[in-house]
Amino acid sequence: MAVSTPALEFSTTLSSNPVPAAQRAEILASPGFGTRFTDHMISATWTPEAGWHDAGLRPYAPLSLDPATATLHYAQAIFEGLKAYRHDDGSIWAFRPEANGARFARSAARMALPELPVESFVESLDLLVRTDAEWVPSGSEASLYLRPFMFASEVFLGVRPAKHVTYAVIASPAGAYFASGVKPVSIWLTSEYTRAAPGGTGAAKCAGNYAASLIAQQEALENGCDQVCFLDALEGTWVEELGGMNLYFVRSDGSVTTPELTGTILEGITRDSILTLAADLGHKVEERPVSIDEWRDGVASGEITEVFACGTAAAITPLGRLAWDGGELSMGERPGPVTQALREALLDVQYGRAPDRHGWMHRIA
Ligand SMILES: *Cc1c(COP(=O)(O)O)cnc(C)c1O
Repeated sequence: MAVSTPALEFSTTLSSNPVPAAQRAEILASPGFGTRFTDHMISATWTPEAGWHDAGLRPYAPLSLDPATATLHYAQAIFEGLKAYRHDDGSIWAFRPEANGARFARSAARMALPELPVESFVESLDLLVRTDAEWVPSGSEASLYLRPFMFASEVFLGVRPAKHVTYAVIASPAGAYFASGVKPVSIWLTSEYTRAAPGGTGAAKCAGNYAASLIAQQEALENGCDQVCFLDALEGTWVEELGGMNLYFVRSDGSVTTPELTGTILEGITRDSILTLAADLGHKVEERPVSIDEWRDGVASGEITEVFACGTAAAITPLGRLAWDGGELSMGERPGPVTQALREALLDVQYGRAPDRHGWMHRIA
């Protein structure tokens, strides 16, 4: 964009009807995931004439949408996912929120949505989390999950980028992803479906990518697996990622490899952070293409000793089994030592138990 977008100014309207403290405590004691929301939200509107305006913190409330709202028809919509972590001293922090803001801007550009300045993205999170600070749970691996999103809110059925766009942020308390200890998951390798093709939207965090992946996820469940793994769309040879997590391979020589970003893989911030953390722990790290044969043969021969997935929701998830049409392969029933060490190293930074050597933590309150 030629002209840089000015920062937004957020107003504040507090809820006159917040969830009573006792009820909130009950929710925080067992938050589950994605069903309970805090007392407030952020929203802002964009039009070509006025740019971003009407930005503010307001009481959490339903959006009223005309049936002809463009996003309902053409899926011009993007989102982000990150967490606010409560440290032992009560302070509240986000992990690399500027990286999420930068990715949000890249996703917006790909989906022909307007740019939201990274500083305004971060400010909107700060404002929401400070206002609803009492909703940030404490305790092992609990967090307040933050969901910024942007969508075409113009009432128009013509096919072109919307001239009325809404930005919003909501927040939802989240319990530990692995409530009863970290357990390896099983993965279905789909040969029927692909997630992303060259020139497509695979690198954008857009709603449509998820819509397209649901049937493959269903296929995984039908085949007794927890999640689905996608190969590249052109050759069906190269390992890309899961529906919402990136992949890592650990070798017998201690090196760790992740598929290189070729425009069809989502640039995970957890993936990027692990490249650095693994090097800190003395591992050789590599980004390069990994074929499905290398995965299968490597596990069979012992050359690949651990495989894990990574993303904001679960941090690091060990893979225990890979199944496909006609075969399967076991990668161990317990998390491997490198997977565990990296998981601990990442969570220790996020929860303030280890020094923040890379300037990743952003203090909110
Ligand atoms: C969000 C996402 C990830 C993980 O990204 P993080 O920034 O690490 O949470 C991986 N793959 C896909 C497809 C995603 O949408």
